[in-house]
Amino acid sequence: MLKQANAISEELIEWRRDFHMHPETGFDVYRTAGIVADELEKMGYRVKRGVGKSGVVADIGEGGRMVAIRADMDALPLQELNESEFKSQNDGKMHACGHDSHTAMALGAAHLLAKEKFTGRVRFLFQPSEESADEEGKSGAVRMSEDGAMNGVDYVIAQHVDPGQPVGTIAISSGAASGGVDSWFGVIQGKGGHGAYPHHTVDPFYLLAHIIFALNAFISRKLDPFSPAVVSIGSINGGFTENVIPDSIKITGTLRFTTAEVQKQIHAEIKRAFDIAKTLGGDYELKIEIGAPPMTNDKKVTEMIESVGKDFLGAENVHEIHKSLGAEDFGSFMEHAPGAMYMLGTRKQGHEEYPFHHPKFDIDERAFPLGTAILAETALRFLKQ
Ligand SMILES: [Zn+2]
Ligand SMILES: [Zn+2]
Repeated sequence: MLKQANAISEELIEWRRDFHMHPETGFDVYRTAGIVADELEKMGYRVKRGVGKSGVVADIGEGGRMVAIRADMDALPLQELNESEFKSQNDGKMHACGHDSHTAMALGAAHLLAKEKFTGRVRFLFQPSEESADEEGKSGAVRMSEDGAMNGVDYVIAQHVDPGQPVGTIAISSGAASGGVDSWFGVIQGKGGHGAYPHHTVDPFYLLAHIIFALNAFISRKLDPFSPAVVSIGSINGGFTENVIPDSIKITGTLRFTTAEVQKQIHAEIKRAFDIAKTLGGDYELKIEIGAPPMTNDKKVTEMIESVGKDFLGAENVHEIHKSLGAEDFGSFMEHAPGAMYMLGTRKQGHEEYPFHHPKFDIDERAFPLGTAILAETALRFLKQ
């Protein structure tokens, strides 16, 4: 499989560079999805367009088990600062998370699998909007699942490029691999007035100071230290000028967790922190918007990817995943079937290392055949076992 993937490495690079030049964000990935769907039809797949608004679902094979391979297609609202002949042509948009590569490699895997004989089915899930949610707080994976994309799927796999790891390595571990994410939006209500007469007001800044303290303290005082969690404030907006105490202040933030139990606990503690506003004579509004669930890699699927990785790369090049509470909406697909995501080493040699979402984010395209082969081979082994 690796040999066949090597043989199409030029096509993989061509696809990736084309997607890189024409980045699209959120659910607005119609050009990318159109190309993906056309290519899959040419390969002989049964293709459904417009799944989860702008996603593509493509099936091949009959009967038996069904393995799904997922790729995300969306870019970021970011101005690219790299100089290359395939630099982003869309001002203010850039593939700075490697989803251009994910899409190209999944197309490559589709190409390889279309030439194989197997019992069972492979489904490709090309999703929009991994990086952001729509006005109802739903990301691409959620929308596609709602449209039935996961119906009948027995296992689901995905990969993500990793600029922190050299080409020729992968990382994967079972269990929680990334955090669940929710967003919270608060309004702290006081009573405004003249800055010289605070005793005639309920100063929302005074309330806020206590709330911020409580928000930053409960992780260490109330949660189990072996259950990772984060609460961060992202914005505070309020006030007009130096001598006016405003009526209210807006505050927003994010929270991260790896279990539903901790998620519930954090929600309760955030509310408790805001309750301080009442204790001190004010009031508040608080809205917590549910985001993506944590991404928990299934043990069996993880072992399958590990064994493929070891066969292709040698055991010394298959590492443990560096866990983080960054969010990944692949977790939403994994709520419907056991699955796992692995990280594919794509560090560029002799090149400064830039993190995900950086305007100079870049990857080493020599990793493409490997990522393509691992996806295809893992799917085949699940069908053949
Ligand atoms: Zn990203
Ligand atoms: Zn990403």
